[in-house]
Amino acid sequence: MAVKLVLFGRQGAGKGTQSVLLSKHYGAPHISTGDMLREAMAEGTDFGRQAQQYVDSGALLPDEIMLGLITERVTHDDVVANGFLLDGFPRTIGQARGLLDITPIDLAVNLEVPRETVLERLSSRRVCQDCGAIYSTALPPASPWTCDNCGGEVVQRADDTPEAINKRLEAYERDTLPAIALFAERGLLVEVDGLGQPDEVLGRLIDAVDARATV
Ligand code: AMP
Repeated sequence: MAVKLVLFGRQGAGKGTQSVLLSKHYGAPHISTGDMLREAMAEGTDFGRQAQQYVDSGALLPDEIMLGLITERVTHDDVVANGFLLDGFPRTIGQARGLLDITPIDLAVNLEVPRETVLERLSSRRVCQDCGAIYSTALPPASPWTCDNCGGEVVQRADDTPEAINKRLEAYERDTLPAIALFAERGLLVEVDGLGQPDEVLGRLIDAVDARATV
C-alpha cells in the first residue's frame, strides 16, 4: 500500500538526507517543495523568478501558491500509485489545514535536532547544484567540490548565509511549530531523535513509521 508521510524538522535537521533514504525504502516519491522551487529558479521560469526573492532571503512563499503547487503534484500518477514523502511542506498552519483537506496522511514525523546543532550544520552545508546531494565542509566530496554522484558542482546554498539561516529558523518557530501542533492534535505525529549517523536516524524513522502506518 502507498504510504503518505510528512517529515518535519528544523532546516538542517537532516530532512533532505532522510527523505531520500525513506523514499527509497518505501518506494514513495520524495516531494521537496524547496527542490521544486530551486528547479523553477534554475529553469528561469516566471514562477521561478517570483520565487527567487523569497527563497534567497529565507522568507516563506504565500500559502496559496504552495498549496496550488502541492495540489497539482499529488494528482500525478507516481503519487496516486505510490503515495508520497513530503519534505518542507506544510510549513504553516494554513498549509497544514489545506493539505489535510486534499489528502489523508498516514503519519507526520518530527525529526528533532537542537537549534545550536542545526546552526552549525547549516553554515558548513554544501550541496550539489545538479542532483541536490548534500555534503559539508567536514565531509566534502572525494574530488574537491565535484559531486561524487553526478559530477555536478558542489556549492553553498544562497540561503545558507547567517542572515537567511536566522530568518528561516525564526519562520520555523513562528509558522511551522503551529503546523506540527495540528498534526499532534489529530494524533498523527511522532517525534524522532535526529541526532546520530544517518543510518541510525533512518532506522529510528522506519521503526516509527512501521509502528504506526499501514504499510
Ligand atoms: P527548503 O529547501 O525546504 O529549506 O526551502 C527553501 C526555501 O524555499 C524556503 O526558505 C522558502 O523560501 C521556500 N519554501 C520551501 N517550501 C516552502 C513552503 N512549504 N512554504 C513556503 N515557502 C517554502
